[in-house]
Amino acid sequence: MDVRAARGAQRTALGWGQEAAKRMLMNNLDPEVAENPADLVVYGGTGKAARDWPSFHALVRTLDTLKDDETMLVQSGRPVGVFRTHEWAPRVLLANSNLVGDWATWPEFRRLEKLGLTMYGQMTAGSWIYIGTQGILQGTYETFAAVAEKRFGGSLSGTLTLTAGCGGMGGAQPLAVTMNGGVCLIVDVDARRLRRRVETRYLDEVADDLDDAIERVTKAKREQRALSVGVVGNAATVFPELLRRGVEIDIVTDQTSAHDPLAYLPEGIDLADGPDYAAKKPEEFTDRARQSMAKHVEAMVGFQDAGAEVFDYGNSIRGEAQLGGFKNAFAFPGFVPAYIRPLFCEGKGPFRWAALSGDPADIAATDRAVLDLFPENESLRRWITMAGERVAFQGLPARICWLGYGERDRAGVRFNEMVADGTLKAPVVIGRDHLDCGSVASPYRETESMLDGSDAIADWPLLNALVNTASGASWVSIHHGGGVGIGRSIHAGQVCVADGTALAGQKIERVLSNDPGMGVIRHVDAGYDLAETVAEERGVRVPMREQ
Ligand code: NAD
Repeated sequence: MDVRAARGAQRTALGWGQEAAKRMLMNNLDPEVAENPADLVVYGGTGKAARDWPSFHALVRTLDTLKDDETMLVQSGRPVGVFRTHEWAPRVLLANSNLVGDWATWPEFRRLEKLGLTMYGQMTAGSWIYIGTQGILQGTYETFAAVAEKRFGGSLSGTLTLTAGCGGMGGAQPLAVTMNGGVCLIVDVDARRLRRRVETRYLDEVADDLDDAIERVTKAKREQRALSVGVVGNAATVFPELLRRGVEIDIVTDQTSAHDPLAYLPEGIDLADGPDYAAKKPEEFTDRARQSMAKHVEAMVGFQDAGAEVFDYGNSIRGEAQLGGFKNAFAFPGFVPAYIRPLFCEGKGPFRWAALSGDPADIAATDRAVLDLFPENESLRRWITMAGERVAFQGLPARICWLGYGERDRAGVRFNEMVADGTLKAPVVIGRDHLDCGSVASPYRETESMLDGSDAIADWPLLNALVNTASGASWVSIHHGGGVGIGRSIHAGQVCVADGTALAGQKIERVLSNDPGMGVIRHVDAGYDLAETVAEERGVRVPMREQ
């Protein structure tokens, strides 16, 4: 059964909060959007939108009958209750994949999953605000721009980036590199994944074999021509081989789904046999995956020793490689401390919105509105212009752009006005990734190497969910294990609906101030000077700094 969200200004649910949640749940499972919709898997290994099909149907049914003063509770992808609340309360509250500390391991999670008691929600899969590969594209683009700034004089022209994993998120890498003027070689075990990215214009071409790939990328690098080339292969084999051959690679990273050792294909196993083997012998598969990751990461460290810029791209591959026996796995940094933390100090993060009309013209109108609101922001202009030209929508038309404290609320309020005055044809949902400035505790990623050592303190994402609930978000979620895997992260998300009413405008203003405000206070608390300046200049109250 193919799932596709309804489009347009007519709704079947009793209010737009409910209708938007239903459409975004369905949009997550649209075959254009989800990596494996038949199994309810949206992206990121096994990140799911609903626990099973009966739960999916119950979610849709309940959203269609939910009143404007009611709230539906979702426990790991299954609706478990409806309570009377009030108009300012979220219509949906979700908790996905959470386990008590000592039990928070993959084997225990799998055991409970097999019993039908939980599901893996990743970040935006189980919280219904995934928008396809574009969702990660701007962050990836900004990360490679930061690499260019740090090491290559502001552009990747004439450089070669090696990476692996061309899935739902990782598929953004080749386009992000070419947008920065560079050449990208991306390795994936699955030819279908590479072809899918070519179809959606994230990847330029697929080579016949490794020799052909090397020839294509080295030629493009020599000619300083932006190009992305995919090659089918296992990264644990291909990375050491490229190192051995001495191919001149300038930047190395990886976005295979290493966070889940059952989603990383070990060397020596056919792609087609992987799922069956993982299901039948999970422990043996895990050991072999970790050994392969050890080889993979050892080669990455080899490239670093040879002078390349190397970073972990948020999939926990260093931790897994260490478990696989490679002691020096943490020789290179994660991308957040290396490039992203200053943005977090300003409350910046992956703000995004989707047009429930289904009309791309609505996104074009919001693009223009964002440029009008922030004319002085050059990198935003560059991004919005390029995205308008090069990003193919998947499912409902959507846009992502990183905005900070004092910016997101202005954009959200403007969108709501545009719905009210008819500039937009239907309401807009406004949310973000969980990978944000003040909504995650993840010591291998968003909170790696915090200045005060508070990497594993998980009070912040919980406070984030609470304040968004108190501020009027339409749905709010608390997840465990997204990005880096079970036991390694706790994170929260929120989505607001701009339906053009005055009430929505008030909610949006509060949520979209307080949510990025959490990023500012979290980094003030950890001792970042930049965050303190932002708090002072933009009026974010921090009690411990007041006399
Ligand atoms: P995905 O499951 O859609 O794709 C993973 C890809 O890796 C697949 O195409 C698969 O074929 C490939 N793969 C698996 N084993 C391989 C191997 N040994 N060699 C080569 N290719 C292999 O996952 P995704 O949504 O693209 O996410 C990828 C990873 O990035 C996940 O761990 C996710 O948690 C993480 N992630 C990072 C960020 C970030 O901001 N940095 C954001 C979201 C997700």
